[in-house]
Amino acid sequence: MSEQVDAVVVGAGISGLASALALQARGRRVTIVSERPAVASTSYLAAAVWFPTRAGPREKVLAWGARTYTALAEQAAQGVPGIVMRESLMLFREPPGEQWWASAVGGVRAAAPAELPPGYRYGLRFVVPLAEMPSYLPWLVARFEAGGGRLEDRRVGSLAELDAPVVVNCSGLGARELVGDLSVVPVRGQIVRVRNPGLRMSVRDEHHPGGRAYVHPRGRDAILGGTLDEGSWDDRVDPATSRAILERCRDLVPALAGAEVLEHIVGLRPARPTVRLELDADTGGATRVIHNYGHGGSGITLSWGCAEEVAALATAS
Ligand SMILES: Cc1cc2nc3c(=O)[nH]c(=O)nc-3n(C[C@H](O)[C@H](O)[C@H](O)COP(=O)(O)OP(=O)(O)OC[C@H]3O[C@@H](n4cnc5c(N)ncnc54)[C@H](O)[C@@H]3O)c2cc1C
Repeated sequence: MSEQVDAVVVGAGISGLASALALQARGRRVTIVSERPAVASTSYLAAAVWFPTRAGPREKVLAWGARTYTALAEQAAQGVPGIVMRESLMLFREPPGEQWWASAVGGVRAAAPAELPPGYRYGLRFVVPLAEMPSYLPWLVARFEAGGGRLEDRRVGSLAELDAPVVVNCSGLGARELVGDLSVVPVRGQIVRVRNPGLRMSVRDEHHPGGRAYVHPRGRDAILGGTLDEGSWDDRVDPATSRAILERCRDLVPALAGAEVLEHIVGLRPARPTVRLELDADTGGATRVIHNYGHGGSGITLSWGCAEEVAALATAS
């Protein structure tokens, strides 16, 4: 690293970019070092809807998620590329009861019978941010560079090789090797991208008998999901899984019948029993090491809340 900076962030996914921008907002000079560019990260292919999935601990997820909801809602109001507020319908077969994440979202109401697809008796309506990552991630990169940030595409073998007062580890699944954290595991997700037949509402059924089902319309396409395969490193598309996803998503949104399939996608979520967001007590010396990884299925949902905590830890006296 030629030029002295205040902080080096490892990883150019949503966690790394949000952390780097939060540090820049506090006046820090930042370099991001990433094995792969942002467009090749897991973050790039996420459905990227605000919703807490496979991440803990719950009370922190709620706080980080609430903060991120507000940040993304502000970005949507400012017209940030890729960020929209999406009307959502969550379907249930039994009376849903209170949802633990509802306070972060604000208004959650019962769906009227006329709003439910055939076969469903209960539903909740609310609004959440959705990020079209193919637009949003490049915008974050551009904003980082416009703020004087530099990106280096290379693999980091050890955090000790990084020479800066602050090092932030946002390496996702890479933390297994980088810091030897074997509690980080892949949670494989397979999704299908179809041409959007004119849908404007996100619909999800977490308890569909065939497996989780969700339909997230974006501008021109819609993301249909999806699987949560614990511990699977298999990044190949399984055609039978794709067929099953399409079938159950049509139960939720009959208008999907005949929608043109554009792409089959598999990604490995960087999951951990709990998100690791902390100052590393084991690293002495002049460098302050902060970890921010293990967000599972909630990396976008928690991004800005976590990034602001990283910046607070980095700049605390
Ligand atoms: C199918 C699918 C759907 C999803 N839907 C949603 C959703 O709707 N909402 C939501 O909130 N989340 C969703 N997620 C989860 C979300 O994608 C992840 O939680 C998020 O991408 C994690 O971001 P990250 O920046 O921590 O990790 P990543 O995006 O994996 O980035 C890690 C970065 O670290 C770099 N790196 C790793 N090791 C090293 C090293 N040794 N040296 C240098 N660089 C290194 C990598 O190159 C990469 O740039 C979904 C995920 C999948 C797969």
